[in-house]
Amino acid sequence: MNSKSNVAEQTYYFEKEHNDCLSCGENIQHPLCPNCIAKAFNQWAKKFPEHHELKGKLNIFMKHHNHSNGKSKECVHCGKDVHVCPYCFTNYLYKVVKEAGLGVRAMSEFLFFFNFDFKHKGYSQELEAYGGY
Ligand SMILES: [Zn+2]
Ligand SMILES: [Zn+2]
Repeated sequence: MNSKSNVAEQTYYFEKEHNDCLSCGENIQHPLCPNCIAKAFNQWAKKFPEHHELKGKLNIFMKHHNHSNGKSKECVHCGKDVHVCPYCFTNYLYKVVKEAGLGVRAMSEFLFFFNFDFKHKGYSQELEAYGGY
């Protein structure tokens, strides 16, 4: 505990147990829980006739990820545990929106509102293809 070599180890365990996304295994740097994102998403999706379908698929995801082990980061918005990083969750939403066939305009609007792809490694590349930001 008091030797220098343990510092790295402790940091490692801290990250492993407290901050990792269950889906991608990466550190959750922007703790915003799926519940909060889903609320905003449902608000946005309301205007589409397919919103029931979207909500249904959303609930499937929520069922799998809404459990607590008391070790996670807290959501910056509601304070609940966050087990999945916003990127993974919005990446799921992105696929759901895409599958529902809402069209390019809806897709680019979705990406404008729910872009957590800060590293530009995933769906934000498609946003740029649509004409982006
Ligand atoms: Zn993730
Ligand atoms: Zn929240």
